Amino acid sequence: MTTPLTTRFLRQIAASGPITLAEYMATCLGHPEHGYYSTRDPLGRAGDFITAPEISQMFGELIGLCLAQCWLDQGAPDPVALIELGPGRGTLMADILRATRGVAGFHAAARVHLVETSPTLRAVQAQTLAGHDPVWHDTVDSLPAMPLLVVANEFFDALPIRQFERDPGGWRERLVGIQDGALALGLADAAPLAALDHRLEDTDPGDLVETCAPATAIAAMLGARIAQHGGTALLIDYGDWRSLGDTFQAMADHAPTDPFAAPGTADLTAHVDFEALARAASPAQHTRLTSQGVFLERLGITDRARALAKALRGDALETHISAHRRLTHPDEMGSLFKVLGLYGPNQSPPPGLSA
Ligand code: SAH
Repeated sequence: MTTPLTTRFLRQIAASGPITLAEYMATCLGHPEHGYYSTRDPLGRAGDFITAPEISQMFGELIGLCLAQCWLDQGAPDPVALIELGPGRGTLMADILRATRGVAGFHAAARVHLVETSPTLRAVQAQTLAGHDPVWHDTVDSLPAMPLLVVANEFFDALPIRQFERDPGGWRERLVGIQDGALALGLADAAPLAALDHRLEDTDPGDLVETCAPATAIAAMLGARIAQHGGTALLIDYGDWRSLGDTFQAMADHAPTDPFAAPGTADLTAHVDFEALARAASPAQHTRLTSQGVFLERLGITDRARALAKALRGDALETHISAHRRLTHPDEMGSLFKVLGLYGPNQSPPPGLSA
């Protein structure tokens, strides 16, 4: 299907040559008029994908209590910025706020800040979080200078990546060009790349490596703020300690699709390279990368699931049981999704994670 973005890309590439995958991805997702996130609410059963907070309230409740415990462990700073990156429908933040109502002084100290580029989703977040006076930001750069508690769920996977194929002569970047009148991937000439020097150790010619410059810039900014003012960040996403291989994917209507077929109409993501985030966040400390299933079990999801189950019958009970399984089981989201914690130089790691 030809979309307005297909025409735009074909014209641009014909005029000035192939573009990086990062430029392609950023335009497809964020173009103000025709971008995927700018034009729709893609979340939930009726959308293109469903995320952990949309599966069950337990996810946000446990994250909320984890962050509130970090706040207490850090001496209950007032004010503290409670920040979410890429809040979607605002469900996760709403669950965090509901679960922490009983933590003495927490709501009085917490100021809610949301980093969100999509006007459509900002409008949904304003409704979900009415009464909590959120402050929106286009980027992390304008976040306030104070102790911070940050959560990002399925945010980093939406940031634009570049792909490089190892070659005896250096690295060949995969670029989006035109083949037979359609958008297609090609390879640039080999060149050395200082940013990938550390990957010469663990790759061979032919291997593909991904980089995500916006992700490392955001992690560096969070790390610097946490090191200076104190705080915690919980970064939750699919990915691994080190990226290897092609993880670029397009999803539409809960199924994989060709990322170049109808630009602007599918969600484009890539796995997160957590080592790159941890390195960039120094001098903040980072935890061990922990699977979502283990993290939620350590925070007590099974007890919480049992307590909620008591009030449920029939279909509602079945849905609840399968939600618990989806969030934690290794065959579902339990091991594909990982959690990386960032915390201050003299602090202890967040509950559920280890140094
Ligand atoms: N965290 C939510 C939503 C995940 S979808 C959940 O778990 O349900 C990704 C979110 O990140 C959306 O809100 C999207 O609009 C936002 N987003 C994507 N790219 C962004 C960027 N570059 N800057 C800020 N927000 C972005």
